[in-house]
Amino acid sequence: MQSIVCSILACLTLVVAPVHGTESERAVDAKNCRKLIPDEYQWQALDWSHLWAADLPRELKIFPEQQPDCAVHAGICADAKSKKTIVVDVDVFFKDSAIWNKPEQLRAYMALVNRYYQQARIGFNFKFRPASELPAWTENRNQLTVIFASAMPAPAGKVADAFGNLPAGKAVFNDVLMKRQERHANPYFIMGKPLGHELGHVLGLAHTQDIALLMTQGTSSQNALDILPEQALIMRVMALQRFGGKLDSVIACH
Ligand SMILES: [Zn+2]
Repeated sequence: MQSIVCSILACLTLVVAPVHGTESERAVDAKNCRKLIPDEYQWQALDWSHLWAADLPRELKIFPEQQPDCAVHAGICADAKSKKTIVVDVDVFFKDSAIWNKPEQLRAYMALVNRYYQQARIGFNFKFRPASELPAWTENRNQLTVIFASAMPAPAGKVADAFGNLPAGKAVFNDVLMKRQERHANPYFIMGKPLGHELGHVLGLAHTQDIALLMTQGTSSQNALDILPEQALIMRVMALQRFGGKLDSVIACH
């Protein structure tokens, strides 16, 4: 994961700022803090301290009934509320795509996804896997899985540009996504937005309408990559409860 250790000045600012927690907690925070998102990026690390994981809006969730009940998973929901980064592994497969077949083609986009997911303090550890280990679609995995395919149909039978499926734990990117020349004005389009957008679905998010948000459909030049605090918390609960996400010791300096 890419990151920049905060300057001493920035960490001192955290200590003297009127933040919650005991003095010793603040000292530990200052020692371990890290500036998550460099200044040249538009995103800020989000604050979800005012939210309750057990009471997040249903309309932001895809398949709400398949998401963890925080009354049952109280410890996980408490961890999700923390400011610590969650690191989660993602298996990546090249199935039969005619376009994507080398890890080097994707690393810059994966770095971008990790940049804007720092809003949610989630870091993806992308791991390229041999095609021989490609799991069956019908296998519901507790492992985030990304597949680059030629024309793989969704469970309903349609070949979409891309899709993310929560029960399956998988996101698929089809070559048709590259054949939309008129939409390529946005530098985030291929693959920087779709990759994070479909992972958002797998991590429990439904579509939203605001074009500033990652989870809005579309790839016009107006589309942006923002994440709401509520969406961040939904994904953090899912990452910890379903996909083996682990809390890192690092918190945000700002
Ligand atoms: Zn979508």
